[in-house]
Amino acid sequence: MERNHDSKLWEEEARGCVECGACNMICPTCHCFLLMDQKSGDEVSRFRQWDSCMLRNFGRVAGEGNPRPLLWMRLRNRFEKKFDFFPKVAGIYACTGCGRCISACPAKIDIRKVLTRLVRNE
Ligand code: SF4
Ligand code: SF4
Repeated sequence: MERNHDSKLWEEEARGCVECGACNMICPTCHCFLLMDQKSGDEVSRFRQWDSCMLRNFGRVAGEGNPRPLLWMRLRNRFEKKFDFFPKVAGIYACTGCGRCISACPAKIDIRKVLTRLVRNE
């Protein structure tokens, strides 16, 4: 992952992405969420709503800053989380190899193909 941080493959692989977030929603290891407050009568409840790091607003912060404004940056971040950050922090890959994200992706982005390209430095 580190070796290919600046690779052109991220832009190439993200070209067909339609930013639907299906790859995150269907993944058994994706766990990111958004905190929401909801008012109902006199009560206010706080709840967690599933979120997707592939969506543009996921990383948006106050003042409209966004560390990952482009789709290929978010695709790269998704892979970094699963195959770089998670192993460093937890000692495991954040991927079970189930293939659900391949089935769900309307752009046919195939995690196996991306990983193979990374290994081969393509
Ligand atoms: S193959 Fe990996 S990234 Fe894709 S849905 Fe399964 S666990 Fe998630
Ligand atoms: S499922 Fe495919 S098209 Fe949808 S956000 Fe994920 S990579 Fe992009």
